[in-house]
Amino acid sequence: MPYGGFDLTGRVAFVTGASRGIGRAIALGLAESGADLFLCSRKAADLEAVARDAAARGRRAEFAAADVSSLPQIRAAVDGALSRYGRIDILVNNAGINVALPALDVTEENWDQHVEINLKGAFFCAQAVARGMVSRRSGKIINIASTLGLVGGNPRSVYCATKGGLVLLTKALALEWAPHNVQVNAIAPTFIVTDLTRPYMADAAYMDKVKRNIPLGRLGNVQDVVGAAILLASPAADLITGITLPVDGGWTAQ
Ligand code: NAP
Repeated sequence: MPYGGFDLTGRVAFVTGASRGIGRAIALGLAESGADLFLCSRKAADLEAVARDAAARGRRAEFAAADVSSLPQIRAAVDGALSRYGRIDILVNNAGINVALPALDVTEENWDQHVEINLKGAFFCAQAVARGMVSRRSGKIINIASTLGLVGGNPRSVYCATKGGLVLLTKALALEWAPHNVQVNAIAPTFIVTDLTRPYMADAAYMDKVKRNIPLGRLGNVQDVVGAAILLASPAADLITGITLPVDGGWTAQ
């Protein structure tokens, strides 16, 4: 009989930034492991397509358009998930942006957008979802950080600040909610080929630097991140909290 610790049958997963890239892949991976889904990002039409993909895997999937930089929209989406499913067992805080600018060119708007989406959005999604998890004494929160939350990236100071903040936020929330049996962990992916990163692939010098930093010798694809998310969402990880799991081909082992 296969090991059952990764089985998510009967769990409800709320995934932000689920319309494409890493978030879509994680959502569908959780569905393939048995979870029903609540998907959110800013465009409902894109989410509808992912919900159809989940349904094709035999899972229920609901969705709502929500901008995670808006507290009222976070609350409305979480309330929507709770009214449809009654509870949320797994939160994946994946929505994020990365607009690279040299530090001397960073504007207040660029700073605020990164902080509001990558950091404030993740915190208030966690807060909104954890209320139910704490009272039920059960829940898994997974924050999608980055290699660039563990080491510096040039020219990505603002992105690094938000992802580094997310790594420490993960530890602090893990400690605060451990007495309530809510596990909070993060994943730190390396360069994963998605719509977010494809524009950077035209920069040969940058890509050469990235590849030299990955001892396993290749860029990541979205499927490389899925197994880590299933692990951290599953009963197999009941005694794991506060960690940031690198999926980085060895970048941060150096
Ligand atoms: P992506 O392809 O650009 O997808 C981003 C997702 O987030 C989309 O679904 C997007 O949908 C959603 N989103 C963006 N802003 C949002 C907002 N304000 N509110 C709600 N949803 C929002 O990016 P990705 O490469 O998959 O990255 C996903 C996460 O992984 C990010 O947190 C990123 O920092 C992290 N990460 C990526 C890499 C990489 O190399 N790709 C490496 C490490 C970490 P809408 O635009 O329609 O809202």
